[in-house]
Amino acid sequence: MYDLIIKNVRIIDGTGAPWFRGGVAVRDGKICKIGMLADCEAERVVDGSDRYLSPGFIDIHSHSDSTLPLYPQAESRILQGITTEIGGDCGISVAPVDPERKEQLKDYAGDLEYGWTSIGQYLEMLEQMGVSTNFGTAAGHGTIRLAVMGYEDRKADPREMSLMKAHLRQAMEDGAFCMSSGLIYPPGCYADKEELAELARELRPYGAFYETHMRDEATRNVESVREAMEVCWAAGVPLQIAHHKVTRRSHWNVSCRATIAMIEKARQEGLDVTADQYPYNASSTTLDSNVPAWGFAGGMEALLKRLRDPATREKLKEESNASHVGRWGDIIVSYAESEKNAWTVGKSITEIAEIRGVDPADACFDLIIEEKGRVNEVNYGMCEEDIEFIMSQRFTMIGSDGNAASLDYPGLPHPRWYGAFPRVIAHYCRERKLFPLETAIYKMTGLPAARLGLQGRGLIREGMAADLVLFDFDTIRDTPSYSDPKRACQGIVQVYVNGVLTAENGVHTGARAGAILRRGRS
Ligand SMILES: [Zn+2]
Repeated sequence: MYDLIIKNVRIIDGTGAPWFRGGVAVRDGKICKIGMLADCEAERVVDGSDRYLSPGFIDIHSHSDSTLPLYPQAESRILQGITTEIGGDCGISVAPVDPERKEQLKDYAGDLEYGWTSIGQYLEMLEQMGVSTNFGTAAGHGTIRLAVMGYEDRKADPREMSLMKAHLRQAMEDGAFCMSSGLIYPPGCYADKEELAELARELRPYGAFYETHMRDEATRNVESVREAMEVCWAAGVPLQIAHHKVTRRSHWNVSCRATIAMIEKARQEGLDVTADQYPYNASSTTLDSNVPAWGFAGGMEALLKRLRDPATREKLKEESNASHVGRWGDIIVSYAESEKNAWTVGKSITEIAEIRGVDPADACFDLIIEEKGRVNEVNYGMCEEDIEFIMSQRFTMIGSDGNAASLDYPGLPHPRWYGAFPRVIAHYCRERKLFPLETAIYKMTGLPAARLGLQGRGLIREGMAADLVLFDFDTIRDTPSYSDPKRACQGIVQVYVNGVLTAENGVHTGARAGAILRRGRS
């Protein structure tokens, strides 16, 4: 007698192997039997009507650590088939917390209460709360640097280095999956290669990897990949290149050819390098990322002060305009905290500048001041040829770079929050035919599970957790769009987390059966 049988399905097991017909039997949250299951009985029997059944999707790159405490049902994730996600990427995790720097951390990692100081305490809090996805986190280098040095724009001294290492070791003991870095964001961007390598060395005893949002994804992709590789060669740890992309028109079709060749070569030489990617031609981040990094030294208050000082503002404006020639029109405001600026959401910086009758850089800076930094953008900077080239690589997996959120989250978040995984299946696999369906599923299940060292998830195998997605290949579609992102995806028929039905036909069941994941223990 089983708890659940899903029969009459085409099973894609997550290894990349061809699908086969059969059924899956589940007991106590685990897959117990796979086959035709003719004589088996269960409390609940689901007829899959010859649709596909795959492992639940694993999102190796998210920022859900900052929103899951507020949206524990994670509709944005569950309704697109994500059952497991890793937060804390791009250098930004919600712990460790220096209680003295809580306000700075709110600017940096999200507006939470921070009733914890360590990753361990944070994970325990989530465990008590109960969440709908299986969830684990990276240890953010930027967060660690913030806890020790604030927004200081300088090299760390030996005492600060040893404090950062201690924080990182604690995070790894608490079960963090990797160290992430975000080298465009202050304060992470103030770190040099040596600091990163010295910290990454601490990961080695844990077998954990270094994940990086590289120094420059616009015009210095090659140099940035080289830096990341040098960090990992020096530290002796694997490398995960986060959301690999090229964000400057002048470098389209060229930079990623070079970086992919570099990754292949490094792999041949013995460096374990992989990459992740989200399937969209626009990125999304905070609007203050358009201000030169030196403007941020000292933190948000210091930035706002510089933006208000006419002479400093002029310098920042000059630099910002120089690096944004022809680009302000591609930057669309996606969220503004205040009611007064709600009208800017969905408009480009160029449009806002015209309406206000000011220069685009001024429009951008004024919004940052008015919103005290709580203003986000979607930025159209990539081309489809590059996206497809990177996605086709055997070492590229899918990561949404999105967040756990509800269907009534404020603003217009990037559609990757709600639709990244079905978009890969519908657009890149079914329509563009970049790869077979089994490969698409491998990139979102077996491959990330292997990278994360998840022993019990990511494959349909006896003994594995019953994280499952039943979907209709003919109708699956990333309904969420830039103009209307907060929607359930079409064609995701059922989603199970640890054997518990968590969504059916686009509706969340309210179940919170997610497990909290810790590296080496999950
Ligand atoms: Zn990033």
